[in-house]
Amino acid sequence: MNAKRAPLAIANWKMNKSPREAAAFLDEFLPRRSGFPEGVQVAIAPAFPALERVGRLLLHSGVLLGAQDVHTEAKGAHTGEVSAPMLKDLEVQLALVGHSERRRDRKEGESECGKKITRLLEAGIPAVYCVGETLEEREKGETDAVLTRQMTCFDAFPDGPPPGIVLAYEPVWAIGTGRAATPQMAQDAHRVLRGLLEKRYGAAHAEAIRILYGGSVTPANARELFSQPDIDGGLVGGASLVPKDFEAIVLAAG
Ligand code: PEP
Repeated sequence: MNAKRAPLAIANWKMNKSPREAAAFLDEFLPRRSGFPEGVQVAIAPAFPALERVGRLLLHSGVLLGAQDVHTEAKGAHTGEVSAPMLKDLEVQLALVGHSERRRDRKEGESECGKKITRLLEAGIPAVYCVGETLEEREKGETDAVLTRQMTCFDAFPDGPPPGIVLAYEPVWAIGTGRAATPQMAQDAHRVLRGLLEKRYGAAHAEAIRILYGGSVTPANARELFSQPDIDGGLVGGASLVPKDFEAIVLAAG
C-alpha cells in the first residue's frame, strides 16, 4: 500500500449468484460496512442479470457497482452482448476488462481490450484492466514479456492514461487454485507494471494509478499481500462470495 493511492477491494462474482442470492449476500454484507476502514473503496461486480438489483441495493451505501465485462461496440447487432451505454444507464461505476477467463474462453486480446476501455471511457466508466501470465509462461521466464505485451492495449491511449484506469495483476495460475502468488512475487510483477506505466505516461501517472492483486486472495493472506508497496488492494473471486470473508479482505486493505 502507498498512502497516496486509495486502497480498493473488488468482488468479482463471476457466473455466481442470481439476483436473489446477490440480495441475500448484501443483506448480510452491507450492515458490516460501518466497520470498514476509512478511505478503502469497495466494489461488487455481479453477473449482468443481477446488476440492476445489486445497483438498487448499493444506492447510497458507498459501495461501488461494477460490471465484469463490456462489448467493444456501443450498440448494434451483437446478440447476447452488453454495451457501455447500457452499463452507464444502470449506474455502473467500474468495469473489468481483459479478465483471464475471457482471454481464455473468448480469445480476447489487447486490441479488443483497448476498444472496450475506449467504449467505457466514452460512457464515463473507469476500467479495471486485468493482466497476468500463465504457469507455463512463468516457468519459461516470460512473465515480464507477457505483461509488456498485455500493456500494449494502452497503445489506444497515446495522450495519457484513460481517466480512472485501474490495473489488476492476476497470475492465471493463481486464479481459483488456492495457490496465491507470494507477496514478493506479486510485488515484483506490480513493480514491472508500474515501470511500464512510467515509461508510457511518466512518473506522476505511474505513481497515481492503482494496481490490484488478484489470484486466491483470502482473509489469511490478504494483509501480507496488501502490505507490499505497489499493491493497492485486491480483485477477489472465490473469497468474495462469502460476506464475512470479503469483509475480512476489506479490513485487510485498510
Ligand atoms: C478472479 O477471478 O478475478 C480471481 C482473482 O479469482 P480467485 O480470487 O477465486 O482466485
